[in-house]
Amino acid sequence: MSTLKAVRGTRDLLPPETSLWNRIEATARAIFARYNFGEIRTPIFEDTSLFARGVGEETDIVSKEMYTFTPADDVGRGLRGEGCARSRHGGDSEKSQSLTLRPENTAGVVRAYIEHKLGETGQLQKLYYIGPQFRRERPQKGRYRQFFQVGAEVIGPPSAGSESPLRDAEVLEMLATLLDELGITGWTLELNSVGAPADRARYNETLRAALVPVVGQMCEDCQRRAITNPLRVLDCKVPEDQPIIATLPVIADSLDEESKKHFAAVTAALDAAGVPYNRNHRLVRGLDYYTRTTFEFTHGGLGAQNALLGGGRYDGLSEAIGGPKAPGIGFAMGEDRLVLTLQALDQKAAPPQVDAYIAPLGESVNAAALALARELRRAGLRVELGDGSFRLKKSFEAADKTARRIVILGEDELQSGILTVKDFATGVQSKVPRAELVNFLKQ
Ligand code: ATP
Ligand code: MG
Repeated sequence: MSTLKAVRGTRDLLPPETSLWNRIEATARAIFARYNFGEIRTPIFEDTSLFARGVGEETDIVSKEMYTFTPADDVGRGLRGEGCARSRHGGDSEKSQSLTLRPENTAGVVRAYIEHKLGETGQLQKLYYIGPQFRRERPQKGRYRQFFQVGAEVIGPPSAGSESPLRDAEVLEMLATLLDELGITGWTLELNSVGAPADRARYNETLRAALVPVVGQMCEDCQRRAITNPLRVLDCKVPEDQPIIATLPVIADSLDEESKKHFAAVTAALDAAGVPYNRNHRLVRGLDYYTRTTFEFTHGGLGAQNALLGGGRYDGLSEAIGGPKAPGIGFAMGEDRLVLTLQALDQKAAPPQVDAYIAPLGESVNAAALALARELRRAGLRVELGDGSFRLKKSFEAADKTARRIVILGEDELQSGILTVKDFATGVQSKVPRAELVNFLKQ
């Protein structure tokens, strides 16, 4: 029988690396609490049409990266993990319902916002999530088929102030604080505005015209994009095309007055808060519902997949999936890439160090050793419990690898109530009465 392995593009996360994941999540939760965000957990799979409408049919995600299936109950066979064919979107009846593993979480959050009528509270909703997402991409460093995102959304009716540029600036400032507190030094905030949908449509035409005389010298992808979706030319990574792209008109010149004002207010607030950013005219994210502010935080330590996170304002998204007017702004951070960055910065997961290793001397004290371990653990100490079948030398070797101290428990110690404790760092051996053990080990 061939050995079973994790499916391509998925991976196991093991200790001690998982302690780094836990630290990232704990820091994120602490920051979200400080900024008064609450957690939302949406289902892992949703109706396919949510993503078709909420992310956009023309995006890479929807056109080629989704894991879409029709439940076996309905079609009488196993899961069919085909890509998302357009004809299979939006089956309404339960029989033909097409489902998709979530490739991102914003669409799900906005669906929940609409479904639970969160807008009717009149309050701004500040929601964060942490969880797995699924995309059928070519796996490589920093790019997986199951990956994790930490993200947040600020969304609400306009009367709650959801359109204010201060919300954009506050989210960006929060991200800068989060990355700083995680110890991710050397990040760059790339910032742009894509204006209102009409601005972007106008810019697309401007680009189309500007591309006509030069596109013949560009890569094949760009030749296609110049016709289908000129904006995407700005995503081109082919080195030879870069000098040509640098001469193309920028979207800033196509923005209406309101969008220009909004962007100026965002940057003024960032300047006042001391958050550095780069205006990046090429940051035109793909979604139809993105409006005004778009951003990415990048890090050089990541190589080709250098985006730590991406986000932007999506004032039209709620209406696009059948909800009320609910402007919002949000981001999604690649947790896998945060881990890679911290590892590149050499903040490897600390080797685990427990407070004490209990070494029972002989199997007759095993049960008493469990009782002692319970006592110490309930007092908040991290304890590793050895086994009475170990020779003392083997217990010492095992303890030295994992613990600060070893606590020896034999028949004598059990009778006298005085335990022998050795500290590995100092080499000092002490006799400690059982009643004082917790305090002793806490020092
Ligand atoms: P990229 O250009 O790297 O494909 P994207 O525009 O598809 O990114 P978003 O949809 O904005 O990415 O997702 C936000 C973040 O999630 C990214 O900045 C990245 O950190 C992370 N991310 C996206 N796709 C993957 C993946 N396949 N594996 C790991 N992390 C990912
Ligand atoms: Mg992608």
